[in-house]
Amino acid sequence: MLKVHDTLSGKLEEFKTIKAGKVGMYVCGVTVYDRSHIGHARALVAFDVIYRYLKFSGYEVTFVRNLTDVDDKIINRANERGIPAKELSEENIVAFGEDMRVLGCERPDLEPKATDHIAEMIELIRELEEKDLAYESAGDVYFAVDKLPAYGKLSHRRLEDMVAGSRVDVDDRKRHPMDFALWKASKPGEPSWESPWGDGRPGWHIECSAMCSKYLGQPFDIHGGGNDLVFPHHENEIAQSEGAKGEMLARYWLHNGMVNLGTEKMSKSLGNFMTVQECAAESGGEALRYLVLGSHYRGPLDFSKERLQEQKKVLDRFYENLGRADEALASNPAEPDTAVVEEHVGNFREGMDDDFNTSRGLAALHGARSAMNGYLDASDWSKAAGCREALRQIGTVLGIGVENPATYLEAQKQQGLSAGGVSAEEIEALIAERLEARKNKNFARADEIRDDLKARGVVLEDGAGGTTWKTE
Ligand SMILES: [Zn+2]
Repeated sequence: MLKVHDTLSGKLEEFKTIKAGKVGMYVCGVTVYDRSHIGHARALVAFDVIYRYLKFSGYEVTFVRNLTDVDDKIINRANERGIPAKELSEENIVAFGEDMRVLGCERPDLEPKATDHIAEMIELIRELEEKDLAYESAGDVYFAVDKLPAYGKLSHRRLEDMVAGSRVDVDDRKRHPMDFALWKASKPGEPSWESPWGDGRPGWHIECSAMCSKYLGQPFDIHGGGNDLVFPHHENEIAQSEGAKGEMLARYWLHNGMVNLGTEKMSKSLGNFMTVQECAAESGGEALRYLVLGSHYRGPLDFSKERLQEQKKVLDRFYENLGRADEALASNPAEPDTAVVEEHVGNFREGMDDDFNTSRGLAALHGARSAMNGYLDASDWSKAAGCREALRQIGTVLGIGVENPATYLEAQKQQGLSAGGVSAEEIEALIAERLEARKNKNFARADEIRDDLKARGVVLEDGAGGTTWKTE
């Protein structure tokens, strides 16, 4: 039985869907003004695995994740570069698709863009005005937070405390200092749309309220995002949607934790932030994914380049192991033992049912791997094949170890080589020279070749079939 932690109730709860067998899930996506960094990767991978696990558990899932393509950051960056905001956001949407591919994330069922939903946002703001929850002020429209008694329920704060606890800028356009913008009058040079309040553009929060209910109805099952979005973004989404419709917005609120670099918070201003692209160049996207899955999604994630490298080594060894198993099982074909498959997949389910605990999921993956090695050593092919099948199923949900081991290892070899600056032909030539040297009993030269290659990250292995090589 699946249990999920709900931010609204603050408790671990039994997961019950609104419609039998179906899940509607909305996750706040990226603002497309720059490349995705590790903080994004964490959220993307966390909800990708949640999506896959729900499907694996038999649910029919509709996963919606928006693209915020109108925002101050986009406008500022586009102005800096002297290009239209639309050109910048489209460029980054393409880059985002590439980052998703690198991370091994499935595409959501729907990826709506904010700018395609201006009419829905205007309609929602009008509904709020009719209910006296919004008011116009000098071409802007604000949500009146003190008209909604439940305001603050997600972040568990009271309006009085919010005002007292934060430095609130005095703004005479607002009636209450915590009122937030639903619509902003346009300034010269900004993208703008016609509206009942004059030309302008939407505030940030309104886009998610408009898009989630359009595609999933209201209420829907899961609303997710990073825990930095609890306040104000998700609090404001609840205020807008529940205020307008008089109905609950989402049944469960799931929030992922942030990324730490040592004890520091990662941020662009501190300059200690890495993009998905940079991580992938360093150690491959799957190693980053593996690192993310090592921690429960709700907790903090400690990131360092060293940790990323360590995870890559673990992953490389895992693929080497899978490669050996596939070879052995190809020579000794056997039907997978179903009890063995169920045992290991059952361990995996037990861990994942505990609020999508991926570190327990990874433990089940490695449990199946070590059992497989034992069966291979004992030539128990049917049980070994059962473990291999369990690894395939678990790996498909986690997005780990799903590549053909030979393809993965070959790609790693190539990547390692470009770093060490030595080509495959060069290595083969040196292996031939070393063999010749040994024949001539010139062991000093043979050892020198081996040590030289090792220094460049290439390890030679002498076996019955001759000398093979791999990268470290
Ligand atoms: Zn959102």
